[in-house]
Amino acid sequence: MDDTPETQSDATTQELRELREKAERFDRFTRSLPAMLYDYIINHDGISHCLYCSAYSLELLGIPPEDFLADMDRFWNLIHPDDLTRFRELDLKTNREEVTFSMDTRVVLASGKEKWIRVSSKKNPPHGDQPAIWSGYMIDISGTKQLELMLQEQATHDALTGLGNRHYFQRHFRDELLRKDRYQRDSAVLLLDLDHFKKVNDRYGHDAGDFVLMRVSQLVKAQLREVDVPARWGGEEFCILLPETTLDDALAAAERIRAGLARVPLDYQGEAIEVTASIGVTTLNADDRRIEPVIKRADAALYRAKRDGRNRVAHG
Ligand code: GH3
Ligand code: MG
Ligand code: MG
Repeated sequence: MDDTPETQSDATTQELRELREKAERFDRFTRSLPAMLYDYIINHDGISHCLYCSAYSLELLGIPPEDFLADMDRFWNLIHPDDLTRFRELDLKTNREEVTFSMDTRVVLASGKEKWIRVSSKKNPPHGDQPAIWSGYMIDISGTKQLELMLQEQATHDALTGLGNRHYFQRHFRDELLRKDRYQRDSAVLLLDLDHFKKVNDRYGHDAGDFVLMRVSQLVKAQLREVDVPARWGGEEFCILLPETTLDDALAAAERIRAGLARVPLDYQGEAIEVTASIGVTTLNADDRRIEPVIKRADAALYRAKRDGRNRVAHG
């Protein structure tokens, strides 16, 4: 084989050219990608140390790459306080048990601007007893997150009143069933139905009916605690979950709501619309496992309240 110094130097030149091309391509990617690329090691003392950070850190986080390199706490300090515990816990768990990390979190930039970002990284196989290198990226997901939150809101809330819908109520109800079993605590459900609501529509028009539903939602909400879960069950019917509430307290809450609605007519474009409601009350029993029997009991009580003359509270 021809292995003269000349051909050796040709090979070296070729290798160098390929290396330069690779470096240029990497540089081009890191400058043009709308992503912050970085890698880091976690030292044996548990402290992370950044080895590389691309220029996009300035646009994404408002942190120049050299600052990120010098001190990764610059990033930690930006994480939204409400997301920090979740982020730390996942980070610790991942470092111990996993090879990939991925989390969506809010960051608050020094300018005060809030963004949603996705942080993803992967652990590379370690070399000997050297700490493994984690390679990762961060991207701005504010746009898609906003859309996701909007769709989530639409799927779980009623557009007219802004209250949670049936799915929303059912989810909270399931959580409450679990808590009830774990802590043996009381909780109650109210089913509220507006009286002769059809007449409101017939007399004042559908828009007036919509207005009444909105105002009733506000008035009901104003009577509740932060932990209570009011929802629009359907039409002119509302369902309210009252956690940690005895039957007596639930009856008192229902009476407060009923009396509040009956007290003053609602003013709709100069018309005084009288609104009353009937309310069925029930409490969760030790053997309640599903939502249906509970709603059935509240509905039976509501039926009695209607039968006995409306504008009243009954329990069952
Ligand atoms: P009751 O005292 O027996 O409950 O009588 P009611 O008239 O309230 O009950 P009914 O079930 O006969 O009528 C309910 C009405 O509620 C009929 C329906 O058109 C009206 N409704 C349901 N959803 C809406 C809504 O979103 N907007 C308006 N304006 N009306 C609604
Ligand atoms: Mg009804
Ligand atoms: Mg009704």
